[in-house]
Amino acid sequence: MSAPRTTAPAPALTPGEVELILGDPADPANPYGYAAAVARDEADAFPEELCGLLFEAGFHLNYLPREWGGTFESFDRSLTLVRAAARRDVTVMPGTMFSIIAATCLQVHGSTAQREKVARILREGGAVAFAMTEADHGSDLVSGALRLDEEGRLHGEKWLVGNGNRAEAVYVVARTGARGPGAFTAYLIDTPRGTTPEGLTRLPAPRTDGMRGVDLATLRFDGVRAPSGARVGKEGEGLEVALRAQQAVRLMSMAGSLGIADTALRLTLDFTATRRFGRTTLDATAYARRECAAASAALLAADAVATAAARGVHVTPQAYSVWGPAAKHLVAEATQDVLAHCSTVLATRSVLRGQAPGDGVFQKLRRDAAVVRVIDASPYANLRSYAAQLPTLITATAAGGPAPSVEAVFDLDAPLPAYEPARLDLLVRGPDP
Ligand SMILES: Cc1cc2nc3c(=O)[nH]c(=O)nc-3n(C[C@H](O)[C@H](O)[C@H](O)COP(=O)(O)OP(=O)(O)OC[C@H]3O[C@@H](n4cnc5c(N)ncnc54)[C@H](O)[C@@H]3O)c2cc1C
Repeated sequence: MSAPRTTAPAPALTPGEVELILGDPADPANPYGYAAAVARDEADAFPEELCGLLFEAGFHLNYLPREWGGTFESFDRSLTLVRAAARRDVTVMPGTMFSIIAATCLQVHGSTAQREKVARILREGGAVAFAMTEADHGSDLVSGALRLDEEGRLHGEKWLVGNGNRAEAVYVVARTGARGPGAFTAYLIDTPRGTTPEGLTRLPAPRTDGMRGVDLATLRFDGVRAPSGARVGKEGEGLEVALRAQQAVRLMSMAGSLGIADTALRLTLDFTATRRFGRTTLDATAYARRECAAASAALLAADAVATAAARGVHVTPQAYSVWGPAAKHLVAEATQDVLAHCSTVLATRSVLRGQAPGDGVFQKLRRDAAVVRVIDASPYANLRSYAAQLPTLITATAAGGPAPSVEAVFDLDAPLPAYEPARLDLLVRGPDP
């Protein structure tokens, strides 16, 4: 079954409205609460009902530009909105917004017809998959083997393609040259619901330990035709645009990390307030207070960094190739810290799949966080892309010269410039403001 579709333009949702429509998370009978999330996790089930409700409320429009019929205003707003939904179950992100990478690629280099097609699919609640990763090559993207032959047919296999089984179109990065980063070109292949183009096989990908039930596919291309008009942008720019677009996705993975960390800390604080220990409650004991304080500090750091990154992508997109990996790393690792400190306080209850705070959702949070940590780039690949830019940053900073003001990033009341994905760059070319 697929999520319900909505055609009427929905007003922009607020995080408070998300909390209200999803109801009390602690109510075991609430289909959008913790108990339901644990039940879905146990059954490896896609969050159909939860995503369906969010679709009806227009949640999926939060990252789509206004001219596409979306409600996007700014990334800090979307970050907070997605964080509120991810507190219930982080699988709402893959469930409702896996298409953000393909959409961003199309915003950067799609033709008018391609943009209109993708905007229509996404507005109506459908999915457009992004197929870049190959099982044999991982982050070694220049070794990608899926190729376009002289007759315009695609051959090869893409791995862990989000929403690959239900997508109505797939953005594929394919080899069209011999070597180097310029040897890849992007194609938008139609895969309407209920049909499969000749030569395409959609296979379920291996099941995941966290974010269970999300739609991941292995897409096998045995001579799938890329018709005229399927090429996106120019020949040779596929990898570059995909890497630039992934920077925007990193922001949304931070929303997932923050939602997980919020829930972990809330469950733990509630536990310390009610769990009796001798004559007192746990929240009056030194060790539990220290662990909760450390977890709170880690969450605050993650919150500040993610908010700055979300505002920064508007103000200084040309430096986002540095800000993105740095922020993703800090937020993902701080979330691991939050979970570690909370685990210490919850003790045995941190590993129980029932009869524990939040109906046993904590163990799911840990597994989900481990997936968010690797979802758009492995930690090492992420750090490596940051480190590779340090020589330029050091030289450019030493040379001095004007750098754009970042005051608006840290003044939360300051208006933000419009988000311009085309200004995202692969590498920083001057000083980091
Ligand atoms: C839930 C989920 C959804 C996903 N959705 C999509 C999707 O929609 N589309 C898509 O295309 N992909 C998707 N992916 C794939 C994802 O992008 C990959 O998981 C990611 O690229 C990392 O792949 P890898 O672990 O093979 O990484 P690698 O980074 O290759 O890691 C393997 C090992 O190699 C090491 N390593 C990496 N680079 C170097 C180097 N330069 N030198 C030395 N060692 C190195 C790493 O440290 C690690 O030990 C998804 C993954 C998940 C889990």
